[in-house]
Amino acid sequence: MKKRTAEPFKIKAVETLKMLNDEERKQALEKAGFNTFLIDSEDVYIDLLTDSGTTAMSDKQWGALMVGDEAYAGSKSWYKLEKAVKDIYGYKYVIPTHQGRGAENLLSQLMINEGDYVPGNMYFTTTRAHQELNGATFVDVIIDEAHDSLLDHPFKGNVDLIKFQKLIDDVGAEKIPYLCLAVTVNLAGGQPVSMKNMREVYEICQQNKISVMLDATRCVENAYFIKEREDAYADKSVKDILKEMLSYSDGCTMSGKKDCLVNIGGFLAMNEEELYTRAREMVVLYEGMPSYGGLSGRDMEAMALGIYESIDDNYISHRIGQVRYLGQQLIDAGIPVVKPIGGHAVFLDAKKFLPHIKQEELPAQALAAALYLDSGVRAMERGIVSAGRNKVTGENNVPKLELVRLTIPRRVYTNNHMDVVCDSIISLYEKREQIVGLKMVYEPPTLRFFNARFTPLSVNGELMS
Ligand SMILES: *Cc1c(COP(=O)(O)O)cnc(C)c1O
Repeated sequence: MKKRTAEPFKIKAVETLKMLNDEERKQALEKAGFNTFLIDSEDVYIDLLTDSGTTAMSDKQWGALMVGDEAYAGSKSWYKLEKAVKDIYGYKYVIPTHQGRGAENLLSQLMINEGDYVPGNMYFTTTRAHQELNGATFVDVIIDEAHDSLLDHPFKGNVDLIKFQKLIDDVGAEKIPYLCLAVTVNLAGGQPVSMKNMREVYEICQQNKISVMLDATRCVENAYFIKEREDAYADKSVKDILKEMLSYSDGCTMSGKKDCLVNIGGFLAMNEEELYTRAREMVVLYEGMPSYGGLSGRDMEAMALGIYESIDDNYISHRIGQVRYLGQQLIDAGIPVVKPIGGHAVFLDAKKFLPHIKQEELPAQALAAALYLDSGVRAMERGIVSAGRNKVTGENNVPKLELVRLTIPRRVYTNNHMDVVCDSIISLYEKREQIVGLKMVYEPPTLRFFNARFTPLSVNGELMS
């Protein structure tokens, strides 16, 4: 018999959850206009909206808050953070920022000239927005497999070297300041990039004098996938794998709110001195002195410790294991999910879950609402609502994937919580024909998914017929 394993931590402080009854959840959902973003956190039982900044810190991190050095310049806490980044990530220079997008802003301004091209393995919303704001055109160079939700491929985040080479041939290397390589790829479902691919991409970039800048937000999760799936890495530590991964890059932007195990924070790191000198000047304008970058001393203490905690093999294997624990149970029950299960989330395929609801009737939004109604579990729509409208024609963008994202916060929930989520989804699947589509009754002009309001397409206004 395979021995079961449990969380590699015990619980020292608890946060009591309010458990609403059926009628109360129904009211909360109606009040929120059937948009899970608009539900009050205190009305949520299990919150799988995002893994960003929702981490539970360790007792050591909480203890370190007290020793934070809040000096305006030359804080002791800053030196601890700098040392942690250099030790674990291996870059020569570090600039702290308030979160990931602060680093993206600096990097994009520092490296992009009007008319440049920035290739990437899919895009992330803020990353791409900063590139475009600075006059660059984003070019997707991820392998085609990434766009197929059912295709099982160990490294769906890989760069397609032929697509990348074609871009170099078409626009010229001098128009490409850097390639932005996300490890793992959030939008593809938390899918990793292989070490082999990173090595090859770096080689092409070096030959063409193009920098490789990582979006390192979930790099530890990526390292763990390499350990599991790539020949010759099974016996290496996640720490060593991570070091090697980052050696195939010239710098990174980091959102500490994910793999650095803190609620706020980030940094920009690089090896080139000239870029660092310019970044030190610019950070003062947008974030603060280069020794705090928008963070308090205590934030930097917590992030420095989180960086070390994140590379503990027991931590990271539990982290990925918990996401898979949920995903595999759903797969075994015949629920349509994106495969393979990624590093930070399980994605339900709403088109396949609710085939009777046309995409214009917002199946993923309806499914996320139905899940909250059933059990107080909060997920997020990633489909036609999130995709917004075409800026020129005003028509809805119609994405191929219509998904509900169940994002697992780090160290927050036990596997029992995952069982509750799983049972709720299975029970919804059994009565899926009762779920009706939605119609948007309020549509904000930008990033509509945050604030849009909906109403069920049923005669009596009920979500379940
Ligand atoms: C969260 C995230 C960012 C942005 O980081 P923030 O800390 O939220 O500003 C960038 N890239 C990826 C892949 C992310 O998931």
